[in-house]
Amino acid sequence: MSRFLKSGLQGMKPYAPGEQPKDSKIIKLNTNESPYPPSPKVIEAINREEVEKLRLYSDPEAKELVEAAAEYYGVEKDQIMAGNGSDELLAFSFMAYGTKVYFPNISYGFYKVYGQIFGQKVTTISLDKDFKINASDYYNLDGTVVIANPNAPTGIALTKDEIEQIIIKNKNNLVIIDEAYVDFGAESVVCLVGQYDNLLVIQTLSKSRSLAGARIGVAIGNKEIIGDLKNIKYSFNPYNLNSLSILAGAAAFNDKAYFKECCGKIMDTRERFVIDLESSGFEVLPSKANFVFAKPPGISGEEYFQKLRRNNILVRHFNDPLIKDYVRITIGTEEEMNAIRDQLPALENGA
Ligand code: PMP
Repeated sequence: MSRFLKSGLQGMKPYAPGEQPKDSKIIKLNTNESPYPPSPKVIEAINREEVEKLRLYSDPEAKELVEAAAEYYGVEKDQIMAGNGSDELLAFSFMAYGTKVYFPNISYGFYKVYGQIFGQKVTTISLDKDFKINASDYYNLDGTVVIANPNAPTGIALTKDEIEQIIIKNKNNLVIIDEAYVDFGAESVVCLVGQYDNLLVIQTLSKSRSLAGARIGVAIGNKEIIGDLKNIKYSFNPYNLNSLSILAGAAAFNDKAYFKECCGKIMDTRERFVIDLESSGFEVLPSKANFVFAKPPGISGEEYFQKLRRNNILVRHFNDPLIKDYVRITIGTEEEMNAIRDQLPALENGA
């Protein structure tokens, strides 16, 4: 730390991103990326001509992307904006709203970091004993509510009705629903943005649309909220998306068939993988995401993580005492999941 750092930032604990190993031998199931490439339409959209246009600034409105997304979600263009990953949109929202913020004690690690950096009073609300969010714990609060649905790293989803109740019971608070993993079987609340002016939905193209490296997220809400977030963006980084990502994102939204096919394959692989984990003694939380959160039998979460790592399989383990017995495993291709199946304790013992 240098002697110039502002005092308010001195105790800051930054977010720790998952490892991005270069070694192609490693089966990478640690950061919930898609195992499938982006739509062929994305690859067509990023051609030589477009690369040459990189000499120009990108479109600050990301018009092509916003139009494709508005069509996909069935909302007006002024109800949506694009961000450099959904992380940026979450950051803008924490920057913009409230002095108090509430979210689950086990959830996406960035919420705490944003709360800290933007000087909010953070209150975390405990999950129940089954790692579920109890919707009524979020009724009648006095600050911004942030919920990942499905939650991460548990993968457990609330229903649309449960979220709607949270929105109704917080008329004077903004409710931010982070739907990073919603396309793998949970219910979205985007359809409610026209009805409630206190709802902001944030989605990403990093998971279900195979574009993690392109850094594209979208925020969907009523036009006043989107207007606030745009003002922040224009006061911070007007060209927040690069030109190639704008084209890639638009092409991905326009290829609905490919999107559905990839999500379908990931959900099918997840269902088969869960059966195999459970039959070899793992406790697996009911996931609606492109990952599973599972407790291995007779071995600690850390040891199992290390064991997989020695076999060139990278998953995610968190040291938080509440979840240290678990590992989070991203759903990859069937072949990738077979590599883990070969490491299942029961199978190894000849069962
Ligand atoms: N929300 C949740 C719950 C996530 O797990 C992630 C991925 N790390 C994000 C948001 C951010 O995704 P991105 O910035 O890639 O859009």
